[in-house]
Amino acid sequence: MICDNITVSANGHLLFAGQDTVELAKQYGTPLYLMDEDKIRENCRVYKNAFFKYFGEKAVPLYASKACSFKRIYEIMTEEGMGIDVVSSGEIATALKAGYDLSKAYFHSNNKTDEDIVFGMEHGVGYFVVDNIEELEVVEQKAAEKGIRQKVLLRLTPGIDPHTYAAVATGQVDSKFGSAIETGQAEEITREALAMPHIELKGFHCHLGSQVFTDDVFERAAVVMLEFIASMKEKLGFMADELDLGGGYGVRYVDTDPYLDVDKKVGEIAAVVKATCERLGIEVPEIHMEPGRSIVAAAGMTLYTCGTVKRIPGYKNYVSIDGGMPDNPRFLMYGSAYTCYLANKMNEPCEFECSVVGRCCESGDIIQEHVKMPASVKRYDTVAVCTTGAYNYSMASNYNRIGRPPVVMLRGGNESYVAVRRESLEDLTRNDL
Ligand SMILES: *Cc1c(COP(=O)(O)O)cnc(C)c1O
Repeated sequence: MICDNITVSANGHLLFAGQDTVELAKQYGTPLYLMDEDKIRENCRVYKNAFFKYFGEKAVPLYASKACSFKRIYEIMTEEGMGIDVVSSGEIATALKAGYDLSKAYFHSNNKTDEDIVFGMEHGVGYFVVDNIEELEVVEQKAAEKGIRQKVLLRLTPGIDPHTYAAVATGQVDSKFGSAIETGQAEEITREALAMPHIELKGFHCHLGSQVFTDDVFERAAVVMLEFIASMKEKLGFMADELDLGGGYGVRYVDTDPYLDVDKKVGEIAAVVKATCERLGIEVPEIHMEPGRSIVAAAGMTLYTCGTVKRIPGYKNYVSIDGGMPDNPRFLMYGSAYTCYLANKMNEPCEFECSVVGRCCESGDIIQEHVKMPASVKRYDTVAVCTTGAYNYSMASNYNRIGRPPVVMLRGGNESYVAVRRESLEDLTRNDL
């Protein structure tokens, strides 16, 4: 199985976090997002322990909450002592509702609106990760109006290609994100920030992309960023307290995806950071990373009920499900790979090749192509799609006026509870006047 929280029972049912998915589908209805709370906590601890071990006590990993954002997640992050990234007033408001201490939050986005900036300051978001000079000027102005000094990291692009999908690569010079080191804009924004009375410059940030497996991209980014930090120390007398290397570690969606050892990776980055700081003659700044996907992806699974099975002889076969692009747009957006199972027939051989498709009026509404299912697949069977904990619920829409599925949390091998309820028809028309 692609993750150790997925197993099969003696009667051929798929188990997730030790619980029978066929029973869960019956109990809560479908489509249904499941989240394995124990796996989320385990992943947080892997990062926390590695940071503690290799970078010391002050280095805290930040959960990039755009991967999956709802109240309960922020409560878990509080309990696990994780920092967080937020990217909008909506994520800030959700964290607030969960009682999350926002002084530990980092506010991202390449285009924060004035309203976002004011909202973040009003609620005491600890750090603003400022993307560009125009934004820096607004942050300075709003901080002045509030009579505060806002802690800031500057988002830079180190000019490194992480070899992932183009849509999720963000560290190149021509990215829409950040200020480029290569063009001199990074130095310019640093000078400006240091001259602003209501900006407290704490350091620098970069984020290269997502679903990254390439061996040394974080190390190469760390070297470029530390060299920039050393040059700012020399030229401007400014020594950065913090260096945030972003998120992006890949996860296993299919058997051919590699397994990534986070502890080992953090250890390798730490070795490069320390050696580089020594070479450059600077102190080691406080290091952060911002994992999103690798905290929650494998903690998620989506369950559907099978509807029409369409066989087009000589062409192809379709297995239709009662969800699709509204709850998981990732195949449509990126051609993302997923592992699909027929959860109630795990003991049957899989010899029927099909596309698993959604119920929307859109031919691109596909969850996965070239899936192998048991030939007996039929209406009312339970279809499971694995590794859906990241960028599924958080990207879900109401396309075709379909309500978002509920999120049911699993823990302790036998407990389940609703963390987000299913959207009703009433919810769908709530804002219509
Ligand atoms: C999306 C994002 C992350 C998280 O990336 P993952 O691939 O989910 O780990 C971290 N930092 C920033 C700035 C991001 O935009």
